[in-house]
Amino acid sequence: MSWTTRALTILGSTGSIGVNTLSVAAELKIPVYALTAHSQVEKLAEQARACKATVAVIADDHYYNDLKQALSGSGIEARAGAEALNEVSSSPEADAVVTAIVGGAGLAPTLTAIRAGKRVCIANKEPLVMAGELIMNEARKSGAVVLPIDSEHSALFQCLEGHSTSEVEKLIITGSGGPFRTLTDLSQVTLEQALKHPNWSMGQKITIDSASLMNKSLEIIEARWLFNIELDRIDLLIHPQSIVHSMVSYRDGSVLAQLGKPDMRTPIQYALTYPVHTTGSMEAPDFTQLAHLDFEEPKHDIFPSVRMGYDAARRGGLAPVIMNAANETAVDHLLKGRCSFIDIFAYIEHALTHIDNSEHPSLDAILDADRYTRRYFENGIPK
Ligand code: NAD
Ligand code: MG
Repeated sequence: MSWTTRALTILGSTGSIGVNTLSVAAELKIPVYALTAHSQVEKLAEQARACKATVAVIADDHYYNDLKQALSGSGIEARAGAEALNEVSSSPEADAVVTAIVGGAGLAPTLTAIRAGKRVCIANKEPLVMAGELIMNEARKSGAVVLPIDSEHSALFQCLEGHSTSEVEKLIITGSGGPFRTLTDLSQVTLEQALKHPNWSMGQKITIDSASLMNKSLEIIEARWLFNIELDRIDLLIHPQSIVHSMVSYRDGSVLAQLGKPDMRTPIQYALTYPVHTTGSMEAPDFTQLAHLDFEEPKHDIFPSVRMGYDAARRGGLAPVIMNAANETAVDHLLKGRCSFIDIFAYIEHALTHIDNSEHPSLDAILDADRYTRRYFENGIPK
């Protein structure tokens, strides 16, 4: 199978993944159809002009006039609001969509792109956590090609190519362990410390998730749906250097790993050019300069998030939706100085014990549970 991207829509172009995607698209000369952002009008307009996009969408429609003004004279069409996000996700003008919105807000346009049968390059993992079963079922129906951008999942995808999951003993997701890997007590850590990731440069929400290891919880559930494999065949291993991006351990004792520098442009490019590895500006690691590749068990007593993720995923139904919404709300409170880092675990635990679950929820039930959980924690954990 070969593929040439005709034109690309980037959902969330002003963020960390969005900016990296634009740089890869420019390098590979992939035309851009549409860019979207939440509220950063100036940056969105500047990006749209630079890549000669056809359409720019601002999700928060209060900024529509500002966007129109910022694009005046460019010939680029300004649009706004949730429906416009769906339109550019399903437009026949683009055959590939990169999902780089942060959080559950990306669920609707992700599903729209999937239902429209696009090549959907998924960075935005939260929708898969909330509605992975539904998204993958819809992809099977529409023929959408789902390609992971998350580095671990890009690695697993590459190590699985040409094989069936029935041959797999374990998927081994690696994680750096974040800035608090060596600590034994998280009660005093600060927001500033949590925002300093040792290896990766990313948006604020995923940087906090990496420090709490919630990112790994989300990634375990992401892998469960992307590769249609049971949870007890997905393991987590801490690997501080972030060079081995993940591994597949096969039934005959053979282990395949994918390695690379911690640079998101590599998995972004592979999602855009799959099944071909083409020349880009990224280079392989210099192995003579790597003193060690270390691996260790995650510390579940210090970071309860990973067990909470497995627990929510095993309970299924709305439990992962509730866990994700509790985490997003806690991270938002932390970023605004309204709670401490360690409270994140309390939010999730409270959510999973106090909010009702239900089996095989519909999309509406998922969206309701998401909204309900966010409102529930609006002013912190209810007494
Ligand atoms: P970011 O915060 O840097 O960017 C988020 C983008 O989403 C911005 O363009 C923003 O305008 C848009 N956005 C935010 N809220 C929105 C809303 N309510 N409606 C519409 N648009 C909205 O985030 P990021 O670090 O680029 O991460 C994006 C996604 O990719 C996340 O789900 C993250 O977990 C995943 N991811 C990121 C990295 C990374 O290196 N940054 C790696 C793997 C996976
Ligand atoms: Mg990742």
